[in-house]
Amino acid sequence: MSIADNLAVIRAALPPTVTLVAVSKTRPASIVAEALTAGHVDFGENYAQELRDKADELGPGPRWHFIGSLQRNKVKYVVGRAILIHDVDSIELAEEIGKRSGSTPTAILVGVNMGELQKSGVPTARALEFARALMRVPGVSLRGLMTIPPATEDPAAAAPYFAELAALAAVGRADGLPLHELSMGMSHDWAVAIAHGATLVRVGTAIFGARRPITET
Ligand SMILES: *Cc1c(COP(=O)(O)O)cnc(C)c1O
Repeated sequence: MSIADNLAVIRAALPPTVTLVAVSKTRPASIVAEALTAGHVDFGENYAQELRDKADELGPGPRWHFIGSLQRNKVKYVVGRAILIHDVDSIELAEEIGKRSGSTPTAILVGVNMGELQKSGVPTARALEFARALMRVPGVSLRGLMTIPPATEDPAAAAPYFAELAALAAVGRADGLPLHELSMGMSHDWAVAIAHGATLVRVGTAIFGARRPITET
């Protein structure tokens, strides 16, 4: 199946409320261009310089999402290029993003750490308190939560984590926090994530094929 076919199959299964973020990390810009030609615009990267290089090479057209764990000294490559930074997990990082954003706030999500697969993220128990603190940081605009649940063979095993993230966002919203976006679900479990209220699914392998192990994160 071609990239266009893979995109069409997944898109056909998505409710209109869900954005498919095609995770193009480690793929050359020419592959992103192929997906763009197929009408796809949202792409996810998790290495800051790689996002910068592809964004600058491809120019206007793609909407870039930064989905990786972001180091403060690399914020400068991402702000102004990414429409959403998915995995913000410290006030210092948010402040750096805000400082670089100037008069146009950068949209961010709180990375919630629900297991060992996610190197970054704030523990579930502290996520809402952290979200509230982010509301006071100038230059960032909080939009929701993201998570990477622990890896499991069976996609259905991720369901409790997705349900927990959705419940956490609902508690936050009831308390006035703007947690409308839920970034959860990857190649093997995006359908489970959507069933639990995902608004953004991050899918790489199921669109572009297997990544080379050497560049796997
Ligand atoms: C690589 C990556 C994905 C995509 O993973 P696939 O299994 O290839 O779909 C999604 N989210 C994050 C944070 C990633 O790093």
